[in-house]
Amino acid sequence: METVKQQILSLLEQVTDPELPVLSVIDLGIVRDVIAGEKETEIIITPTYSGCPAMDVISMQIRMVLLEHGYKNVKISTCLSPAWTTDWMSEAGKQKLRAYGIAPPNPLHSVCDVQLFAEQEAVQCPHCQSYNTVLVSQFGSTACKALYKCRQCMEPFDYFKCH
Ligand SMILES: [Zn+2]
Repeated sequence: METVKQQILSLLEQVTDPELPVLSVIDLGIVRDVIAGEKETEIIITPTYSGCPAMDVISMQIRMVLLEHGYKNVKISTCLSPAWTTDWMSEAGKQKLRAYGIAPPNPLHSVCDVQLFAEQEAVQCPHCQSYNTVLVSQFGSTACKALYKCRQCMEPFDYFKCH
């Protein structure tokens, strides 16, 4: 028997990031908790990037999806601490990003150490899996991504920056 919370979580799989339509809010790992009360349903989310206008759109989509399924009193709270990191992205989410042609974020602890790896972060090309890639610009199609180019297959690609 599915609990209300599980039902809501599976509905949230339908809510995607407007900037990355392949990823749901579950894939992103931004849903912190679901509190299914008798009168009210509370969804607690942690914004990905504080500057991302996508969060307003995401909140609205969450309300709409839940309303369609009969959850009328939905409260969306944000939890800012601890801050979201790309480590919270699910493995399924990372696979979807790669399939979409975006290099998924590397685990923070292995290669995103600012001191050691700021200059040379090994980013894998999502097209040919080569690590022979070069940073073109810190800002890709959105502020959350950086633009890279693969020296192996010569294809440019976005890298979802560690955070
Ligand atoms: Zn490549």
